Amino acid sequence: MFSNLQDKLERAFKVLKGQGNITEINVAETMKEIRKALLDADVNYKTAKTFTDQVKQKALGQNVINSISPGQLLTKIMNDELTALMGGTTSELDLSKNPTIILIAGLNGAGKTTFSGKLANYLKEKKGKKPLLVAGDVYRPAAIDQLEVLGNQVGVPVYTDRTSTDPIAIAKAGVEEGKKNGNNVIIIDTAGRLAVDEPLMVEISAVKEATQPHEILFVVDAMTGQDAVNTAKAFNDRLDFTGVVLTKLDGDTRGGAALSIKSVVNKPIKFIGTGEKMDALDVFHPDRMASRILG
Ligand code: GDP
Repeated sequence: MFSNLQDKLERAFKVLKGQGNITEINVAETMKEIRKALLDADVNYKTAKTFTDQVKQKALGQNVINSISPGQLLTKIMNDELTALMGGTTSELDLSKNPTIILIAGLNGAGKTTFSGKLANYLKEKKGKKPLLVAGDVYRPAAIDQLEVLGNQVGVPVYTDRTSTDPIAIAKAGVEEGKKNGNNVIIIDTAGRLAVDEPLMVEISAVKEATQPHEILFVVDAMTGQDAVNTAKAFNDRLDFTGVVLTKLDGDTRGGAALSIKSVVNKPIKFIGTGEKMDALDVFHPDRMASRILG
């Protein structure tokens, strides 16, 4: 993950190597390289520009202490700024309601069903919760089977209704079922589409209205780069979601989405998916991700 970006940043830092001081000229040169590296990693243009401008300003404002090299100083500033760019601190799920209703949204293939299973597993194993999964992806019959298989794997019940093709009715019935059975978290998997379209937005908004979720998690494939950010914006404009789940960060992603999403939609990344298995889920920590990017 991020290997491309790491290599490029390393090269950018080399411009500063051997320089005794941070000067306007060598910082400007390095920032140009860093901006290029970020754009190549699919970071949104405005985000990359604002970011490098800020780093430059901070770097020039520093009194260079003799014991710290310009490269080290810039690494420290970059680390702080990357952390801030990704939201600063970890944003936890709000699980205070009983039951807490969590709606899962996103396009087809983003990893919603897989994430629903992972989240149920995480809440059961790490948070001592008693979740219920609700199979709301009515257009893809295999999705219902898939969620049942995952629920079985992680030992979490799954509410299904194969006789209905009404995602709103299913979501509502699922919530009622969970309340009846004493489930303190209800995770509703929903249908996606190949691309953002009006029927999808109308439908998911109606499911939101009908179930009044406490958390709406938007799931997006990190490999889709700039598209991930555009899709996030489209969903957020309609749904006002509470957090982002970036999936497939284990693959050969350039990682730009992780850096751009917070600044474009102003919603935190809450989880990252790092594989197909049910335990391949991490709570997102901006500081750890920043360290990983800087290598
Ligand atoms: P949905 O259509 O949004 O419900 O997407 P799925 O949950 O069916 O996932 C689509 C594909 O992506 C499946 O083959 C999953 O196994 C795979 N997938 C989901 N999350 C991850 C992840 O974090 N890493 C990897 N490598 N694959 C994932």
